[in-house]
Amino acid sequence: MRTLVPFGNSMKHIDLFTPIELIGTDRGREIDFHGRTPAVDEVWELLDLVPDPEIPVVSVVDLGIVRDVRHAPEQQPEWQVDITPTYSGCPATDFIASEIERALQRAGIAAKIKTVLAPAWSSTWISAKGRKAMLDSNIVPPVHDLNSLTCPHCGSGDVHMKNQFGSTACKALYTCHACAEPFDYFKTI
Ligand SMILES: [Zn+2]
Repeated sequence: MRTLVPFGNSMKHIDLFTPIELIGTDRGREIDFHGRTPAVDEVWELLDLVPDPEIPVVSVVDLGIVRDVRHAPEQQPEWQVDITPTYSGCPATDFIASEIERALQRAGIAAKIKTVLAPAWSSTWISAKGRKAMLDSNIVPPVHDLNSLTCPHCGSGDVHMKNQFGSTACKALYTCHACAEPFDYFKTI
């Protein structure tokens, strides 16, 4: 799916989402809670199988989008999942909420997905596992000092930003002068 989103003073087409069926949400695993009430930890485990639509190698849990999972048997629906968009106006937020809802439904859980805007998401919320998964896919995870940015292909520090926006708005496109390979950098927020 391609969509038009604002970038600075202009508009740009970006490839937004890959349908979850094509990514393979469950990554080879099936979790089914039908007929029983799972522990909160098990629901976190299930959510850790839901890929972020923009960076499918990282789950919505590892990216820090899922903030809280609560079970309140006296309420309907019994489960509530709080999510925070990675940056304000991220066009994927509604999509992520519905994918989380669908993943839970498939496992037999009805949940309310609530968007929580404060405190705002920060790239420091990305887990160590998430950072490693990015790097394994040649996406450089957020760094504090851009001068320390190195090429994920060859390790050279001789890298330069080619475009402020990479394949999605949260990434910048870099190129390496040592090996000539391009790569995405997930911007620090
Ligand atoms: Zn390189």
